[in-house]
Amino acid sequence: MTTTAFSTLPLSAAMLANLEALGYAAMTPIQARSLPPILAGSDLIAQAKTGSGKTAAFGIGLLAPLNPRFFGCQALVLCPTRELADQVAKELRRLARAEGNVKILSLCGGVPFGPQIGSLEHGAHVVVGTPGRVQEHLKKGTLTLSGLNTLVLDEADRMLDMGFYDSIAEIIGQTPARRQTLLFSATYPAGIEQLAATFLKNPQRVEVESLH
Ligand code: ADP
Ligand code: MG
Repeated sequence: MTTTAFSTLPLSAAMLANLEALGYAAMTPIQARSLPPILAGSDLIAQAKTGSGKTAAFGIGLLAPLNPRFFGCQALVLCPTRELADQVAKELRRLARAEGNVKILSLCGGVPFGPQIGSLEHGAHVVVGTPGRVQEHLKKGTLTLSGLNTLVLDEADRMLDMGFYDSIAEIIGQTPARRQTLLFSATYPAGIEQLAATFLKNPQRVEVESLH
């Protein structure tokens, strides 16, 4: 179906070629529904099952407006665990191959601060991390979010289950009000509505039922 072709989106030729090289022949349903509003700059709440391609949906979205010449954090993806953050960082690095020299840094707990601080000093365009460690870097002043364009709350339902609401709220307090906020979740418990009502502006809502 032509409506699911990535080429219907306002993406660079380099990104389209990269998606083809990755074997992404067509958009998955959540990508087809969420990418048009994301690329138009809208806030978004997207709900779809695990394995439906949510990472590429927000990944393509956050890379599109990114300026590789500005070495500040332009996009922040918050994830519930280190394993998920590392998976997201890996997928973002694959997607970013088209964009030239884009630095994607994973910032999670359970490892020493030193190397993370060194990497931050060299500059990172995109940070993927767990709320606790990101908050600690903000407190130390080793991470600044004043140039942030895109904030992604990935697996928001799990982050709430793990008690990260206050951390998320504190992190968001250090981001510019004009940011774009994208919330991705596999389920839609009541806490998500509160999170969205507090931190998203007129979000588009996209829900994709089971793939099978
Ligand atoms: P979710 O976050 O929804 O659980 P992921 O983003 O981890 O799902 O994606 C699941 C798998 O689908 C990954 O291996 C990813 O590389 C692959 N994938 C994503 N988008 C596409 C696409 N358009 N075509 C083919 N494979 C895709
Ligand atoms: Mg995911």
